[in-house]
Amino acid sequence: MTRKFNSILKEKCPKCEKGAIFSEKGNVFTFRSPKMYEKCPSCGIIFEKEPGYFIGALYVSYGLAVLELILSYLILTILNAPLSIIFIVLFLVLGMFSFFNFRFARVIWMYIFCKY
Ligand SMILES: [Zn+2]
Repeated sequence: MTRKFNSILKEKCPKCEKGAIFSEKGNVFTFRSPKMYEKCPSCGIIFEKEPGYFIGALYVSYGLAVLELILSYLILTILNAPLSIIFIVLFLVLGMFSFFNFRFARVIWMYIFCKY
């Protein structure tokens, strides 16, 4: 269980847990989007099993974003930040974590629905 969790955090292939899923992690500040390998570089399984396979990952991404926003909001209210600052920070948090959410949503999606 903890091994699987580690593989998810390291974005490794759900089958062999050795090959990387992403060739490029992406950078929000330089607008470079994350790039996925088509197949696992280690065991060769095809990550996108069928067209539209990753549409469901949008729900995971949404869940991650909501979680991040709730946590940020709680931290800011504990710090007694004014409402205008809270909105600005939440907007920045959404932007900063967008690529992170994109990657992890896909990884989590594959680990949930890939039985090898
Ligand atoms: Zn693999």
